Formats: sequence, C-alpha cells, structure tokens
Amino acid sequence: MDLFKGLVSGAFLGMATFLAFTAVLFRPAATSKIADRLYAIRTLMVSFYVYESGYGLIAFDSGMNPAAAARGMKSLGLDPQQVLHVFLTHSDYDHAGGLAAFPNAEVHMYEKEVALATGKVARRLFMKNSVKKYFQIHNSKPVTVGNDTIEIVPAVGHTPGSCCYLLNKKWIFVGDLMLLKDGKPRPFARLMDMSHSQSVESLNGIVESGILSSCDIIATAHGGIATKNEESKAPAA
Ligand SMILES: [Zn+2]
Repeated sequence: MDLFKGLVSGAFLGMATFLAFTAVLFRPAATSKIADRLYAIRTLMVSFYVYESGYGLIAFDSGMNPAAAARGMKSLGLDPQQVLHVFLTHSDYDHAGGLAAFPNAEVHMYEKEVALATGKVARRLFMKNSVKKYFQIHNSKPVTVGNDTIEIVPAVGHTPGSCCYLLNKKWIFVGDLMLLKDGKPRPFARLMDMSHSQSVESLNGIVESGILSSCDIIATAHGGIATKNEESKAPAA
C-alpha cells in the first residue's frame, strides 16, 4: 500500500514538475488569425496552424486532442470537416493527438518518423507514440496541393523524423525544432529532445541555409510565432 501511495504521489510530483516546467518554458501562439488565410489554434500548451488553400483546409500538426482542436477551429469560423490534409512535424501526442478531429484529412509525415509514429521504436522508456490514422509518407520532395507547394525540410533530433514544412517559400512551420526568444530561434528543451545535439545541429544547418530569414513567418509549436516585420507576436496571456 505504501509503495502504491509512493508511486501515486511520485507520479503527481512528476506531472506537477512537468507542468511547471512547460508553463515557464512554453509560450504557444494564441488561437487567432495570424496572416491572410493563416490561423493559429492553441490547445493547452501547444499550437497548430491551419491554412485556407483553394482546395480545402491544410493543417500543420493537429493539437493535443480532437475536442480542443475542433473547438479552437470553430471559434475562428473554420470547419474541421474541411481539413483535407494534415502535415505532422512529428508524431508526439501533443502534435498528433488531435487527428481524430479531421475525418476527411490525409495525414502526411516524413518517412524517418514512421518507426516512432507506429510504436516500433519507443519515445521514452515504455512510452510509445501511436499514429493510427492512415498516412502518406514522404521523403524530402515537395508536395503540391492545388496551387500551393509544401516543402519538407528535414530537422531530425527532437524525434528521428522531425521536420519543418515550408509553405509557398514564405511561411515555415517548425514544430519542436526550436523555441523563440525575442523573435530569434533558440534550441528546444534538452530534456524533451530524443537527441538534443542532433536537434541543435539541424537548427544550425537550417539557420545557415537562410531558409528562416527568407520567410515572412516562423511558426513554432510551443514558442509562438516570429514575423519578419515584428520581433515576435505576443504570446497568449
Ligand atoms: Zn511538442
């Protein structure tokens, strides 16, 4: 019994520490319109993004859970049923947990994420990710949806198949590659990266490539957004 109590209080303590940690570290973008035809939707500690293409809605990640994802979209007048594509930056639950809100969507993911996404490789000890929905797997070739082009920018490290998505060469969705400080990229939380050194290497490579500085908007999952003309958008209160 004492052991049980100890385990339960240990779990509570662990969860409380985790929540305090994320509250200090994370500044997700608030649910709002952030540019013409582009929206941020916040579900608790993470944001995902929705773009109105001429061929239905395109989501970049899906939020933590379906109800919160759908609620956030509806508050902006967006219909989850009209999401025809979801591009996952990686398969962690706070990014893939909302997929069930989008019954009509094809789910896309970078090929190197598949083993983790399907639980063949554990995320942490016994923790496994499970993206159950059918998905399209891509190497780094661009994907075209109507008149829009989505380029996969590999950014491995946070997970083995983490990637960014570059939309029409002007907006980039970076997932958990980075956080932002004063609108500038900074590495993600070491404790949450599967390989922090690899993630930092990916970030440095992408910074050096000039992709980030060529974009009008950098949209992170947990660190808000940075725009070219402003330092960074204010996070949610
Ligand atoms: Zn995340």
